[in-house]
Amino acid sequence: MKSIRTVYKIGNGPSSSHTVAPHLAAGLFGSRYPDADRYEVTLYGSLACTGEGHGTGKAVRSALPSADVYYDKEDHTNPHPNTMVFRAFKGGRLIGYAKIFSIGGGSIKIEGEESQDEAEVYPEKNFSQILNACRENGISLAEFIRSREGEALHPYLSRVWEAMQSSVKAGLSAEGVLPGGLGVSRKAKLLYEKRCYNEDSSITESRLIAAYAFAVSEENACENIVVTAPTCGSCGVIPSIFYHMKYDRGIPDCEIIDALAVAGLIGNVIRTNASISGAECGCQAEIGSACSMAAGGYASLLGLGLDQIEYAAEVAMEHNLGLTCDPVNGLVQIPCIERNSVAAMRAISCVDLSHFLTETRKVSFDEIVATMYQTGRDMNEKYRETSHGGLAAIYRGKP
Ligand code: SF4
Repeated sequence: MKSIRTVYKIGNGPSSSHTVAPHLAAGLFGSRYPDADRYEVTLYGSLACTGEGHGTGKAVRSALPSADVYYDKEDHTNPHPNTMVFRAFKGGRLIGYAKIFSIGGGSIKIEGEESQDEAEVYPEKNFSQILNACRENGISLAEFIRSREGEALHPYLSRVWEAMQSSVKAGLSAEGVLPGGLGVSRKAKLLYEKRCYNEDSSITESRLIAAYAFAVSEENACENIVVTAPTCGSCGVIPSIFYHMKYDRGIPDCEIIDALAVAGLIGNVIRTNASISGAECGCQAEIGSACSMAAGGYASLLGLGLDQIEYAAEVAMEHNLGLTCDPVNGLVQIPCIERNSVAAMRAISCVDLSHFLTETRKVSFDEIVATMYQTGRDMNEKYRETSHGGLAAIYRGKP
């Protein structure tokens, strides 16, 4: 497995696969052909279907200002649902070509080349091998991550945590209507400030966590800076819980960064053995993964044991299985924003269950990851970030 840095990337929303990765790919291609006088970029599959709503053309042009961007919704022959073809011309002559896949979470793969991502740093290939290594050495997951990635990971995760907190704070103070034409108003500030009649402490906790998740997701919808966790569409789940633990419960940053590492490790296992891409496996791969990561990270923050952390992460994924990706108008707003807050609250419920039921479990985390991947491969293309099915097809808009 690669470094967990590949899971957390700081960048502009609204979509890791549709904005962060295309921006990265365009910049890389432009740097290879700086003498070109014209660039052409053709987007296929999910990038063609939802690229306009997700702002893919803008993301490409922010790295390649002179690029002509085309959306080909008819060609389904490419091996990956998020495919981009780049061409560079000089004096009307083709001087450069690359086919680049956006493989989820802002990462790219260039056809015929080794991955641009960092080298393999974990010999372990799945969660059960990781647990064995922890048990053999009598160490926690956070200690295991440090032993594999070295101390250099900590400053990176500190920057990630800073960016997450900034996105919560920015979202909590903003008001107005989100861009894109759906007329969706920002709700984070309202959720943060408005108490309901006779509000008890459990409702307050849910309201605050929901407010933090809305805040980050609304920042994402506004194309502002967020952290992929593991994607932009699911970027609100993890920050909401950890922000709550710091600002409402007084947990210190160093403990949260360790929990962030554990959550990242869980996301890394999913990314390696299945997918974190909505275009590949539906929303179960994005929100399901974020929920699973958040549950595992939160369990670790509470000091629960290895089995309880695995149970919480497994249950969180299990009950997101089959979750489809059907963003209305191709915008990362309906159902995405609300879904982040629901997933955050579900992650906490999964950890609550792990206090009691871990000993009774039958299903391992690796088994549920394999199940999610198989379910995603079986899922009709309509429900894999094309905006052709589900809510995207049925929602007619309301004032
Ligand atoms: S429905 Fe889920 S996977 Fe699809 S764009 Fe929204 S958050 Fe991402």
